Amino acid sequence: MKSNLAHDVFINQGKAIALANQVDDWLEAQGKSEPVQIPFGQSRLSLKSKDNEYKTGQQSMRESTSNSISKNGPVLSSKVRPLTKEQERQKYNFNAKNKALAAGENEFKGNCDLHGITDYKVYNSGKYHCLQCHERTKQLRKEA
Ligand SMILES: [Zn+2]
Repeated sequence: MKSNLAHDVFINQGKAIALANQVDDWLEAQGKSEPVQIPFGQSRLSLKSKDNEYKTGQQSMRESTSNSISKNGPVLSSKVRPLTKEQERQKYNFNAKNKALAAGENEFKGNCDLHGITDYKVYNSGKYHCLQCHERTKQLRKEA
């Protein structure tokens, strides 16, 4: 296999492994171990479990930003606001979608902004959309 990497990389890789082993030995000698790290290629976001509970955009944003704020920093009080009409609609769809997925169905009755209570399609990924809106979008795309 051809490689574009300079030899330095491999030399440094060897040094890094040797150093990591030294650190492990040193910690072990003191009866300690290295704290668990987030594995390569993963982030706080990918480790986050997918909740089955509806959250407003503000709640999601607050959750992701509060992770990056220092523990001593000021924390906003978690004041629960009543949901807006739009958030109520989204929550309704969110719950109906989860119900459909749990029942192994790929369609459910959702509440569309444009069409009211109507048929929705849901994918295993958790994405969902109003069937009529989907048709309309396809039609508009064709005309464009
Ligand atoms: Zn619609």
